[in-house]
Amino acid sequence: MWKDLDISLEKATDLKPRPSGEKLGFGQYFTDHMFRMDWNRKDGWHSARICPYQPFSMDPASTVLHYGQAIFEGLKAYRSGDDRLLLFRPEDNFKRMNDGAVRMSMPRFSVDQVLKALKALVYLDRDWIPTAEGASLYLRPTMIGVDPFLGLKPASTYIFYIIMSPVGAYYSEGFSPTRIYVCRDYVRAVKGGVGNVKTAGNYAASMLAAEKAKEAGYTQVLWLDACERKYIEEVGTSNIFFFINDTVITPPLSGSILGGITRDSVIQLLRSWDIAVEERQISIDEVIAASQDGSLKESFATGTAAVISPVGELFYDDVSHLVNNGQTGPLSVRIFEELQAIQFGRTEDRFGWTVTVC
Ligand SMILES: *Cc1c(COP(=O)(O)O)cnc(C)c1O
Repeated sequence: MWKDLDISLEKATDLKPRPSGEKLGFGQYFTDHMFRMDWNRKDGWHSARICPYQPFSMDPASTVLHYGQAIFEGLKAYRSGDDRLLLFRPEDNFKRMNDGAVRMSMPRFSVDQVLKALKALVYLDRDWIPTAEGASLYLRPTMIGVDPFLGLKPASTYIFYIIMSPVGAYYSEGFSPTRIYVCRDYVRAVKGGVGNVKTAGNYAASMLAAEKAKEAGYTQVLWLDACERKYIEEVGTSNIFFFINDTVITPPLSGSILGGITRDSVIQLLRSWDIAVEERQISIDEVIAASQDGSLKESFATGTAAVISPVGELFYDDVSHLVNNGQTGPLSVRIFEELQAIQFGRTEDRFGWTVTVC
């Protein structure tokens, strides 16, 4: 199927043992093959190839290792009940990555061509797509700058690659609510910065706050805006929604938060159900007040890994506030089930989100 592409294929001769379905977890195992292409100023993207999964060497002075020129994506391939292989809105991931490339002074690529490569790679390693309920193949496109040069400037050589990892169902023990720590000491991103790009440094910068929240017994951090420490931004590496009275509210894409594809899908889904959605600034005080007067019905985070993570508790200013009595609410369940049904091809895809590999 990759004959019409300018992609060479070197098949792995030693296939790895397949991990058993129960202990997949997240991001621990990698499939037999990877995709890679290289960029330089003269040739643009070239030497596209699918090859055995393997380490690559780079110069210790490489741009990415010192100045963090790295962007990545996260999406999944799903196996339907009738054995079709499906991708969820992959063009949107590649468009987002291209936008990130511009911000990070890195080269863009052809979405069509990289999508073809991705499909070929998924097809080749299709046996790795788990069959267990809710399990999938996580796909990680990545681009890094690799000039062996310590001067601070955009690299003139890049590697783009895609690796794939079979992952288990996120909620192996039920759809359980998370405990969220509202973070006031650290911020994730600033307007005008790179918070809206999936670039490596954002995640390094978020680790300390996340570790401290974990030590205190919380699942994740809720980030507030960097200027006033007042408006809600995101939860961990997910977008966040609040269901207050009869309206679902989520912070707007104002530059410092990541424009999640799950976020956009949830907004479209809710509107198709005639549920009002507002993309607007929402302060932590408004959320706490809504929790106290009972108008906060539910809150949930959205992202590719978990799809929907219901929020059961918000810890803010030394006080714990339960959301929906610490239980998963009906709207969270309804959205989760509908999105999973579309992703796994169990229901009609009214939005044209699904791309079939085969
Ligand atoms: C990836 C990511 C999200 C979620 O995006 P999806 O496209 O829905 O997976 C949200 N916030 C941050 C910071 C992220 O990195």
